[in-house]
Amino acid sequence: MTDLDFDRRHLWHPYTSMADPLPVYPVARADGATIVLGDGRRLVDGMSSWWAAIHGYNHPVLNRAVEEQLGRMSHVMFGGLTHEPAIELGKLLDALLPEQLDRVFFCDSGSVSVEVAVKMALQYWQAAGKPGKRRLLTVRSGYHGDTFMAMSVCDPVTGMHGLFSGVLREQLFADAPSCGFTEPWREEAIDGMRDLLERHAEEVAAVVVEPVVQGAGGMRFYSPHYLRRLRELCTEHGVLLLFDEIATGFGRTGRMFAMEHAGVVPDILCLGKALTGGYMTLAATVASGQVADTISSGDPGLFMHGPTFMANPLACAVAVASIRLLQARDWRSEVRSIEQHLRERLAPCAGMAGVRDVRVLGAIGVVELERPVDMARIQRRFVERGAWVRPFGRLVYLMPPFIVSEVELTLLTDAVCAVVAEEVEEKK
Ligand SMILES: *Cc1c(COP(=O)(O)O)cnc(C)c1O
Repeated sequence: MTDLDFDRRHLWHPYTSMADPLPVYPVARADGATIVLGDGRRLVDGMSSWWAAIHGYNHPVLNRAVEEQLGRMSHVMFGGLTHEPAIELGKLLDALLPEQLDRVFFCDSGSVSVEVAVKMALQYWQAAGKPGKRRLLTVRSGYHGDTFMAMSVCDPVTGMHGLFSGVLREQLFADAPSCGFTEPWREEAIDGMRDLLERHAEEVAAVVVEPVVQGAGGMRFYSPHYLRRLRELCTEHGVLLLFDEIATGFGRTGRMFAMEHAGVVPDILCLGKALTGGYMTLAATVASGQVADTISSGDPGLFMHGPTFMANPLACAVAVASIRLLQARDWRSEVRSIEQHLRERLAPCAGMAGVRDVRVLGAIGVVELERPVDMARIQRRFVERGAWVRPFGRLVYLMPPFIVSEVELTLLTDAVCAVVAEEVEEKK
């Protein structure tokens, strides 16, 4: 049996049939913005390994941070012990985030950080004497992870809630924000949300949204003003506001955090993905002092969560190095020039029959087609052109590492235009 046969037969890949899996490409190594396949082919990375590898791969500074920490300790429990990598990372996040958000809970992955955030919201209302506030309110087209509470606030259709009905908590859904990122604000864009808040405030613990960019639920960009109104409405109705910045955090949208487009501060914030520069899994749930103090004043007066690998020192050390690296680089102009390039070089797609929309924000470029792509075929075509691009559904999109060069970016955008042209041609 070849290694690839073993992989096909025995290894589950994300969202994949075990009986008839899509092809996978073996990777030998990765450097900068290049992924090198086992057969020596070199691909320019257009995905940052799902929003994470903002500095590219095999970065000497990040490598050194891991190696140095490895020489001291790879892990110790966080119960009753603490360490410099966690403290340093806490200080950096504290300095980067709005001052109200200053109580950091480190956990394993984005999905877990959403579980932690929801648990904080529920314990908050118990401690505040309103235990009836147990439901969540969100918008359609969202994505918040694959664990059960996170799944319950994913889009009900693309999140396939039907599959888990009876198990999944039934949450409240407003329409996805309909006002685009650059469109003038229309107050009716938040009518549905306001209506649900008015009718259900007594049972709603928190509103959960991805600020400005809805990622895996549809790659949609919406008006920052929606968040300003949402903040007002949550305060007015006594509901906590929870932002999921797992995909958008650390510069991707042109701001350090997407919420900065709106100048709005949530009560609880989730961070993940690019937190470690894509080196390993780590997430953080950051709460306001008010949330933390209220939880602590209740019964049992403790926050009831504590993962085994909480604040893993290797992950914290590389996160510290990644954030310092970001601060040392002129990431704003890097992202701005990627944005400009994506705008110019994806524009030709907009004129193609079969393309519904082309949109760009920060280092995110999206071509939305009329119909779903043929995954196996489109993937092969990108690889043949030396590009690593992984579309889903009707969406072909790029979110390259910030260190991508002009030449590499051109290869990516040329590949998208050519492959999309072929794809819509076939679908005629
Ligand atoms: C990826 C993602 C998650 C889940 O993170 P995992 O690390 O995959 O568990 C949650 N929310 C958003 C917005 C994401 O993009």
